[in-house]
Amino acid sequence: MFVIWWGTRKVVNRQGYAADFCPICREVAPMLICNVEMANHVYSVVYGKGETIGHFAQCQNCRSELPARLNKFRTLADAIAPLVTLVRTTNPTVYETEKGRLEIERMIKEGTPPLPRDVRFELMLEKFHAVEPEIRNRLDASRVDRPFIATLAAYIVAALFILPLVIRDSMRLGQVQVYLLLGTFLFLGYLMLTAHSRFLSASIYPKLGAALRPLKPGPRELDLILRLLTQRRLMAGTALKVKQLTGWLARTG
Ligand SMILES: [Zn+2]
Repeated sequence: MFVIWWGTRKVVNRQGYAADFCPICREVAPMLICNVEMANHVYSVVYGKGETIGHFAQCQNCRSELPARLNKFRTLADAIAPLVTLVRTTNPTVYETEKGRLEIERMIKEGTPPLPRDVRFELMLEKFHAVEPEIRNRLDASRVDRPFIATLAAYIVAALFILPLVIRDSMRLGQVQVYLLLGTFLFLGYLMLTAHSRFLSASIYPKLGAALRPLKPGPRELDLILRLLTQRRLMAGTALKVKQLTGWLARTG
């Protein structure tokens, strides 16, 4: 059967580099600015110019994909450069505009004076908003990740190339190939089911834990924040769990 596979798909384009404040690193950091567009494709081959649906800035220190506002940059640099150079060329007033924010970070580090309750709560919320684009981009995408592809490739190599060399009896070879196929099939199913939780454990919980740790949020506060995020229809609210967050916060980082 001949199937024409076409439609629109999300395409990420690199726009350039700039310096900006990263709420996860809690300092000014180099960022890769990207735009996301819905582009037309036929058999996965993109054609024409798509419609831009948003921007994000990927911090080059912590790899977080943060919400980005393009109009704050004077220009974008074509290549990554030392931070001082990026600041000078792309965002020369960043230390001035983020002065209050950097002062708060100094207060958190030194613990004096204690942060006002509302400021502390807003800072905690900010961390969750910061990881939202990354969670959304990954959870919207396919569950087929690198371990899935590696498992599939290993199965093909083992079943088609290695086993026929080791097992000469064709009956026995057929049996072993069927068992291997079943085992691989089950394991691929397991990998697909756990794709999102593995992504959150590898990429989101560690940096969210490190970014939240100085603010010392309790389980009740975390629960309140996750419910607030769910009300705001943010994926972080439903994808993240208080128990895992407190587990990561308890680790010494
Ligand atoms: Zn960062």
